[in-house]
Amino acid sequence: MKLLNKIFIMLSILFILSPIPSKALEDSPKKYVYLTFDDGPTKGNTPRLLDELERLNLPATFFVVGSLVKENPEAMKKMVDNNHSIGLHTMSHNRNKCYGSHESFIKENSELRDLLRERYNIECNIIRFPFGSQNSYLRMDKVFVDKLHNNNFKIFDWHIDTTDALNPNKGPQELLNICKRQYEKFYKDNSNIIILMHTNSNNDNTIKSLEGIKNYFLELGYEFKSLDDNSKELYHIR
Ligand SMILES: [Zn+2]
Repeated sequence: MKLLNKIFIMLSILFILSPIPSKALEDSPKKYVYLTFDDGPTKGNTPRLLDELERLNLPATFFVVGSLVKENPEAMKKMVDNNHSIGLHTMSHNRNKCYGSHESFIKENSELRDLLRERYNIECNIIRFPFGSQNSYLRMDKVFVDKLHNNNFKIFDWHIDTTDALNPNKGPQELLNICKRQYEKFYKDNSNIIILMHTNSNNDNTIKSLEGIKNYFLELGYEFKSLDDNSKELYHIR
């Protein structure tokens, strides 16, 4: 074989065997999905959900309610022990108590922050409004946002609502389809996607939907992450 041919074949083999240049991998921007579960901890559902998250190796964020933290200390402890991030979702989840005034909402979340600090030695500053930051009882404006920030709270609404609170009977495939539809329509290639789910006692289908949701977003190049004090806030102002 001519020398030139030999060189050409060797170069071709080297090219095929060479891995993708690491520079190219480093340069591809990271995209994250945040699974968030509101309204826990509940006695049966939350431990089952935690087991499934562990099996799937998924980090998550729980926006907990103070009265339920008191009622279900074991489920709460398991959540903390499994290193998920914990957010504040008021003491009572009661619309009259939460939304009487700015001050009452801040009190509801400050009390819960104190409770979690005392009982579990964790510092929680991320909050989620029951019914979202633009609910029919209270409209968020700049003045309120400033008050919340002055109290060191960070605010997180969501991008995708699985609607599992309103419709706990929706099957796992349907919950996955809702995620797919909303992602395709509104959030394609967003660098951050926050998904709203729940851990009420009737949310077993939510648990069953997680594997499909995980696989869908992994294939799109996303990683899963927990929200924390450094995450970019998400809320709506009128
Ligand atoms: Zn809620």
